[in-house]
Amino acid sequence: MSAKLKIGWIGLGNMGNPMVKNLVKAGFDVTVYNRNPEKSNTLKESIDVKIVGSPAAMVQDADFIFTMLSDDAALKEVYYGPSGLFSAMAAQKFIGIDMSTVSPDTTREIASGCKEYGIAYLDAPVSGSVKPAEDAQLIIMVGGEEEAYKKAEPILAVLGKSSAYLGSSGSGNIAKLAINLFLGITAQGLAEAVIFAGKNGMAAEQLMPLINAGAVGSALTKLKTDNIVSDNYKPAFALKLLAKDIRLATTNGMDTPVGKCLSTTLEGAVKAGFGDEDMIAVIKYLKQSI
Ligand code: NAP
Repeated sequence: MSAKLKIGWIGLGNMGNPMVKNLVKAGFDVTVYNRNPEKSNTLKESIDVKIVGSPAAMVQDADFIFTMLSDDAALKEVYYGPSGLFSAMAAQKFIGIDMSTVSPDTTREIASGCKEYGIAYLDAPVSGSVKPAEDAQLIIMVGGEEEAYKKAEPILAVLGKSSAYLGSSGSGNIAKLAINLFLGITAQGLAEAVIFAGKNGMAAEQLMPLINAGAVGSALTKLKTDNIVSDNYKPAFALKLLAKDIRLATTNGMDTPVGKCLSTTLEGAVKAGFGDEDMIAVIKYLKQSI
């Protein structure tokens, strides 16, 4: 596939920003849109991207349009809004690739809207946070038309260490929600272990290296050690986004005991004002609420 392919990218948040940088480094011609234009302008200071003022404005000139947005509402706004992608659809036949974590229902709805214009649409959410996004080490889970996936595969290879085609529209979303259910349960489990040890006089500085060295240690426990030890919850993955994912899992039939407990914790943490902190701030919330 030629590096001259034109890519449109919508959403320059914690994840979108480093992902676009990797595309530009790989030689793709990238046009960006972000609702808050400051993020586009700041990005342009460090890399060579074109900026447009609306999603519709990138349709004319894009082979692929990627979205990396907060949630279902944001994605719908970008497709259905007054200057959204659907408002300019007739202009060009791009392939839409959504990498956000959203519901399979929203994916199927947008995929079916795209189909009416003869446009393919893939759900391609990612596992991995900001650091894997920077290092192009994301794991990408794809649903939708296989032919479109094959065309997108070389671009996805620039963003992640693997991509897997899983089947029909929404399959990627289901895989992602299952992984984040496990992620959330692990985060709450870790928080509870740290709180229990703390209650008995053992500091997180002592406990975390032991967890990390043993069988229960994981990339996640290692990644979150600094946050826990330094009590710093600057978001790499905002708690409100994990709460959103568990809400989506619940809507899609998640009714298991620990999952339900996690849901209660996250909703409580968002209500208590921890939504904009990193997801491992469940520790802070549980400390104050139990
Ligand atoms: P983020 O930093 O909060 O960025 C969200 C992006 O969505 C921003 O560009 C924001 O624009 C845009 N947005 C929100 N509402 C919008 C609307 N109504 N119209 C247009 N744009 C809108 O989120 P993130 O951490 O990059 O995560 C993006 C997605 O990836 C989420 O679905 C998340 O669940 C998923 N994810 C995140 C991680 C992680 O570790 N962070 C890992 C895997 C998957 P503004 O700048 O204008 O607000």
